[in-house]
Amino acid sequence: KENSTKESNVAKIKVVVRKRPLNKKEKSRKEDDIITVNDNVCLTVHEPKLKVDLTAYVEKHEFCFDAVLDEQVTNDEVYRVTVEPIIPTIFERTKATCFAYGQTGSGKTYTMQPLPLRAAEDIVRLLNKPYYRNQKFKLWLSYFEIYGGKLFDLLCDRRKLLMREDGKQQVCIVGLQEFEVLDVLMVKEFIEKGNAARSTGSTGANEESSRSHAILQLAIKKHKEVEDNRRQKESNELRSSKVIGKISFIDLAGSERGADTTDNDRQTRIEGAEINKSLLALKECIRALDNDQIHIPFRGSKLTEVLRDSFVGNSRTVMISCISPNAGSCEHTLNTLRYADRVK
Ligand code: ADP
Ligand code: MG
Repeated sequence: KENSTKESNVAKIKVVVRKRPLNKKEKSRKEDDIITVNDNVCLTVHEPKLKVDLTAYVEKHEFCFDAVLDEQVTNDEVYRVTVEPIIPTIFERTKATCFAYGQTGSGKTYTMQPLPLRAAEDIVRLLNKPYYRNQKFKLWLSYFEIYGGKLFDLLCDRRKLLMREDGKQQVCIVGLQEFEVLDVLMVKEFIEKGNAARSTGSTGANEESSRSHAILQLAIKKHKEVEDNRRQKESNELRSSKVIGKISFIDLAGSERGADTTDNDRQTRIEGAEINKSLLALKECIRALDNDQIHIPFRGSKLTEVLRDSFVGNSRTVMISCISPNAGSCEHTLNTLRYADRVK
């Protein structure tokens, strides 16, 4: 009982901003760090500007969020602020989602990669407690990608997947492989395998993966006993299990890719339009959730359709907005912060 009171105190939607340090290249170009983190909740962007007579001046923009993490903050601390508080809720029928949003190079993957590992560590520890062991709770993992509006299984040779709705607000991704997780090492191996399978076109790994959303899900399921032996053989493991709760980790496509809608290359334009659509739809869904709206506009994109069951009922959403500190990224940084601001 004490647990459930604690859980209800966990915010339904949390927006966190993380600033990365200047990198070598930016330092060698002597670029200014234009972000100051004022306390743990507000930051100021010092935008370099020129007057018509070309004299330089600085325009300041202040933003406040649930938390602002500066370049000193470690991945461990990021975990503690963002994901750790929601782990107990997924044992209580909650669907949680953690997004990393931001321009390419702002630190989304750096931030996202360790989170499922830490989460799995905590989940496995809880699962091994007698209470949950007796309930036959188990942890399952899946990892897929949305690229150009299509779904690909990252743990199964990039097999193309289709989405189906069962009419009861349940989303089913047909053919998506799920694997039972017994320890954290397995999670590490699945993540590595999945990362190796991420979209890499002719232009190189980072370039292409910045145009896709990677979705890693950890689901807690209750294994149902099937008395009839024959039925047990016919039905697969998944069908005889019920989802208790889950958490999805989403490394979103680079936010600047949504602007690729005037590119000369047709494929790039199509992908840009799809990314733009999905990031807009995501913002609308989170805002609708925040306002406790009955109608959640999840049909706006493939991304939000796939996440449909995470937007209805008990849900928790954490948005980690990643920003680059250098002056050259100012416009993208302001866009990211305005997006995060609208979500809240
Ligand atoms: P994105 O996924 O948003 O394109 P990455 O996560 O790949 O960006 O980060 C770009 C580069 O910056 C990588 O080399 C990464 O190691 C580095 N980086 C990002 N965030 C941090 C951070 N907080 N501290 C140190 N290095 C970082
Ligand atoms: Mg990345």
